[in-house]
Amino acid sequence: MSQGDVLQNIREAIFKNIPLEARITRIEFEGPLIAIYAENPAPILENEEVIRRIVKTIKKRIVIRADPKVRKPVNEAERIIREIVPPEAEITKIRFDEVTGEVIIEARRPGLVIGKGGSTHRRILLETLWRPHVVRTPSLKSHIVEQMLNLLYKESERRQRFLHEVGKRIHRPLLYKSDRVRVIALGGFKEVGRTAILVQTKESMVLVDCGIKPSPGPKDEYPYLDVPEFDVDKLDAVIVTHAHLDHCGFIPYLFKYGYKGPVYCTEPTRSLMALLLSDYLDVAKKEGKRVPFSIREVKEALLHTIPLEYGEVTDIAPDIRLTFHEAGHILGSAMVHLHIGNGLCNIVYTGDFKFGRTRLLEAAAHTFPRLELLIMESTYGAKEDVMPPRQETETQLIEVVKSTIERGGKVLIPVLSVGRAQEIMLVIDEAIRKERIPKVPVYIEGMVLEATAIHMAYPEKLSKGVREMIFHEQNPFSSEYFRPVTSQSERLEIAEGGPCIIMATSGMLTGGPSLEYLKLLAEDPKNSLVFVSYQIEGTLGRKILDKAKSGEKEIIVPIDISGGKPEYLVIKMEIRAIEGFSGHSDRRQLLAYIRNVRPKPEKIVICHGERSKAEELASTITRLFRIPTIALENLESIRVR
Ligand SMILES: [Zn+2]
Repeated sequence: MSQGDVLQNIREAIFKNIPLEARITRIEFEGPLIAIYAENPAPILENEEVIRRIVKTIKKRIVIRADPKVRKPVNEAERIIREIVPPEAEITKIRFDEVTGEVIIEARRPGLVIGKGGSTHRRILLETLWRPHVVRTPSLKSHIVEQMLNLLYKESERRQRFLHEVGKRIHRPLLYKSDRVRVIALGGFKEVGRTAILVQTKESMVLVDCGIKPSPGPKDEYPYLDVPEFDVDKLDAVIVTHAHLDHCGFIPYLFKYGYKGPVYCTEPTRSLMALLLSDYLDVAKKEGKRVPFSIREVKEALLHTIPLEYGEVTDIAPDIRLTFHEAGHILGSAMVHLHIGNGLCNIVYTGDFKFGRTRLLEAAAHTFPRLELLIMESTYGAKEDVMPPRQETETQLIEVVKSTIERGGKVLIPVLSVGRAQEIMLVIDEAIRKERIPKVPVYIEGMVLEATAIHMAYPEKLSKGVREMIFHEQNPFSSEYFRPVTSQSERLEIAEGGPCIIMATSGMLTGGPSLEYLKLLAEDPKNSLVFVSYQIEGTLGRKILDKAKSGEKEIIVPIDISGGKPEYLVIKMEIRAIEGFSGHSDRRQLLAYIRNVRPKPEKIVICHGERSKAEELASTITRLFRIPTIALENLESIRVR
């Protein structure tokens, strides 16, 4: 069957099911979707049965668009939209995209623009013949989300062409019947960092995650893309589980070396990737570190991103269907389900995941339609990796904050900007409201603020508790105690002022505002330094923590060794490390996951964990559950079918 035949079959099925008066003018590939253009889309849109029937016959997702000829003029369309949408929706911006025929409506309450069961959305489309794309205006302005929308809007024409090409490639006729599937470990196996997994069938090839190793040294920084199996030109798709750099940091490099295909991830992941990748380049520039790509390739990667919702079954190659499921790790994080060769085999890759609820997110998904091979992370896979219960962890944090403030000190919490920071903000907000700690200002630094704003743009992806608070105007992130810090000079004032809490990046004191604050606060024994995340070997955070654990009263560490004369810092603050805020499953949760995952996998591959942890977890699972489990090495592969 030729390419033309594939589309011809789809066309025939569509024409057979759509009433004639819809007057279809065009049927086109648009990425994984089939776009149907009609001069009179009403009979299709008003009859859900029609759409259901088409989807059932062609087994593709479809989008209905009005033919450009019939769209209402922009001014008139805007007037109609403002009439239809209730004022409580608080529309902040309306933009028309001539290329796609979409009207981008930004509103503070997007639910009201969509309406019950999509009724308002449908009315806008029917009356203006522009297709509404509704975006939430975050209550805290996110520059990244704004820049991203501008970029996509500006490059709309190019993007439309790209989607068309992707669609053609996805729907190419199947040359080979897939009878074998291989998974090749290109990075992040028996180690943490530079995750990259290649899934290969006779017909197609997809890369799942493509990260860097954010360690202090340049050794083993990037995945093994130089293997003969890997070929950028033959790559059908890149899939990203979440925005942490050890999972997406090397994607721009693919675009530098000729990749022109799609990157699939969730929408929040796209925004967080924009933030973390541009910050990575900024930091590298300041530190004089060479990175093998530039902001240009970061933009290319973002422009080639196709966002998907959890649960949306999407064709990404002639023989591969992708579905994302919630992973509970950070905002937008996803587990990857691959349905290969029309039922030949099903793979689930967990990515980083938390099998347990946190304040910020719901727990990871554990039921799938089918599952033969499970690829699971093992960051906390060793026997000793059992974390204290959340409540205990939170109490520890609250106690150290309380005692520091009561003695007139300041609390410095170095945080990772995405995930951990927001979790800590939720704990502190509640503790202040419940009067478990005194009412003091909580200073939030730039990167944390921007990441928080991105969280507020996607409340529907957060835990039920937080979502309800945001929808009921009790947004915990815009609590009156949280004070944004926007300039350098403010830091000095904060350091000289009264008791407070400061949250700043980097989480391991490897630079950035947290190190600036440390220099200002270190000498006063009334102050506290509280670590809430893992401190990697070689970082300043780890050095301080190791010295504190060995019982040194006065800690002296070198902080700037780049110049001729090293600069030393004397730390007299109280130093604490609080475990248990992790976004990863601990040992107990990893084993509980194997016990609960449905259906039971035939085979398990362990990844993303230090050598001893990965190996130990693999042998425990084999023993306890009698499922063949192996911890692959980088460059090893496994045949699934
Ligand atoms: Zn992660």
